[in-house]
Formats: sequence, C-alpha cells, structure tokens
Amino acid sequence: MKSFVSQWEKLEWDDIRLRINSKTATDVEWALNARKVGREELMALLSPAAQDYLEPLARKAQRLTRQRFGHAVNLFVPLYLSNLCANDCTYCGFSMSNRIKRKTLDANEIARECLAIRSMGFDQLLLVTGEHQTRVGMDYFRQHLPAIRSHFSSLMMEVQPMGEAEYAELKTLGLDGVLVYQETYHPQVYRHHHLKGNKQDFFFRLETPDRLGRAGVDKIGLGTLIGLSDSWRTDCYMMAEHLLWLQKTWWKSRYSVAFPRLRPCTGGIQPASLMNEAQLVQVICAFRLFAPEVEQSLSTRESPQFRDKVVPLAINTLSAFSKTQPGGYADNKAELEQFSPHDNRHPQQVAEALIQSGLQPVWKDWDRYLGRAPAR
Ligand code: SF4
Repeated sequence: MKSFVSQWEKLEWDDIRLRINSKTATDVEWALNARKVGREELMALLSPAAQDYLEPLARKAQRLTRQRFGHAVNLFVPLYLSNLCANDCTYCGFSMSNRIKRKTLDANEIARECLAIRSMGFDQLLLVTGEHQTRVGMDYFRQHLPAIRSHFSSLMMEVQPMGEAEYAELKTLGLDGVLVYQETYHPQVYRHHHLKGNKQDFFFRLETPDRLGRAGVDKIGLGTLIGLSDSWRTDCYMMAEHLLWLQKTWWKSRYSVAFPRLRPCTGGIQPASLMNEAQLVQVICAFRLFAPEVEQSLSTRESPQFRDKVVPLAINTLSAFSKTQPGGYADNKAELEQFSPHDNRHPQQVAEALIQSGLQPVWKDWDRYLGRAPAR
C-alpha cells in the first residue's frame, strides 16, 4: 500500500544535513526572492546562514499569513483523558516506568472537565491520552466521544496511532482531526528514545498520516520534537518532505505543523540539540514561505512573551491555559502532569493579547464547512 515510507527511504539524513549547513547568504537571498519556495529554497531558509535574515524572512511570512488567513487565530485547549501509557519514552513524564499516579477519567469526570473548559469560552478541543491501546482504546473512545463531541464544535485527537478502519469509525463519532508527531525522522535516534511498547515501531508511526488520509480524516497534524535528534534543521526538513508527500497523495485532507521544543518533565532527558527562540522563529517563518496554506500551531510550552511576539508572524492555532494532567480543569492536580506548560495565562488574557496585536481570537471552527450542525 502506498505510503511516505517509499519516499523516506530515498532521503539521506547526512546528505540533507550537509546540504542545509552548506547553504550561503546568496542562497538565502535567492530563497527570499523566489516566487515559489521549493526543497532547495527551504533548505536555505532553515540553514545557519538564514539566521542573519530573520527580519526579511519574518516580514514575508507575516504578509503571507495575512493573505491566507486574515487576522484570525484559532484558540483551542487540550483535554487529557488519561495518563496511562504502555510505552517508555525517555522524554515524557507519562512513561510506564515512571512511578506516578495514574488516572483515566470516567464519564462523570469527563463531563466536569468539558463544562469547566466550556465555561472558559473554548469551543475547539484536542483530546490527549498516553498511549494505552487496551485500557484507553477504541472501546473507551466509542463510549465517550459522542458525549464529548456534544459539548464542542471541533474535536481533534492526539492519542496512539491506530488503523484506517478505526480512524474511519472515529470520524463517525465526531472526530475532525488527528495530531500524530513523528518525534524524529532519524530511525536510530528514534530507537534510542523509545524503549518499550508499540511506539518502538518507527514505521507504523511514520505511516499513520497515510492511514488517516486513506480514512478521509479532515485534518492531519505533523510535528517533530525539537531537541530529540542532534539536528533539528534536518528533522524539520524531513517533516517538510512528509508534508509534501501527504499533500500530493491525500489532497482532500488539510494539514497543520508544529515544532514543540523539549520541556522539563518527570525523569526527562536533556535536549541533544538546542533551538533558541530566534531559531524557532526562523523555522516557523521558513515553513510559512514553503507551505503558505498550511496551519501552524503553537503550544503553551513556549513563554507568554515569546508567544506574543511570534503569533502575529505566522501562527494560526494557539492553545491556551493547557493543563497536561487528567482532571486538570475541574480539579487542578499538578502531580499528574505530562510536562510543565510555560504560558499559564488565563484564556481571556491570551485573547486580549491577540487583540492588542491586531489579531482576532476565534473560539469556534466552521461547522458549515465541516458539513454539520453546531454542537448545541
Ligand atoms: S510521549 Fe506519548 S507514548 Fe511516550 S510515554 Fe509519553 S504519552 Fe506515552
């Protein structure tokens, strides 16, 4: 069956890394003036040489963002349903070997969380779980998704990778989109950080967006965990290749990208490569030039000051007031959390900051576009 793996096999990590790192100022200027930013131009914009061109890059990214998306910035919030996980990842507080209190929300607790989230104004929800196929798998989603969906206009998921038929069924239960981050496109680094459980299967994860595309899921989110490999530039380029493949192959779906940086967590590791804030701006703006129509998302991993500066440039989707532990909105129990968010502002403060920047906070996605009636 066709999948990105056939394209990934043609990509040489070391060669790409070398090509990116050898780009010159002339290459960057060429890329900034190009009518269309293709593979070579993206490499130039991701390169160390582009760090001296942050201002023109940011100006062009902002212009393209306004052209494509106007002033709208969508606000969403994650709802952590469970911190059970059958995997061991070196960088995550939910890892099965971490001796933390485990919790999976039941119907009553979910309802309380939904009401607490709705009372803050959110209408777009991202459901998050650890990856525990048997305890928090399809039976659990069948049981709870319709009730959750009745509270919200838009429902995304970030859970364990599943099969095509399961995604098709989840769609009928109200699912609009799925985020599935590859973490790193380097197989040896991937193996080094995924020590136990199904997540060890690099290729099953790599093919997940193809299964989502085949199942006709409306929105597919890609991401790479910055700091896992020792070359974030190469990982970001690999993700761009992934995006190109998916857009060409599963063209009916919409796509989003994100560049989460490693954050401290229980038992966590130190990043193998550091990306500073200027470099994160560089990547976000480079992707705007490369894929102007693709949504970019920024989480509360980043600081309020940084988010306020970068959102007006190229961000379309923003989480706010995220609690990364099950039951975090109705009962705030920080000891269960996956990682520590950096921006803890109340959603209304985040919305106010957007307005101050001349942007329009949007709490609700487009029901009519999605072909169904509003939730209430
Ligand atoms: S990153 Fe995901 S799969 Fe890995 S331990 Fe954390 S929740 Fe589990």
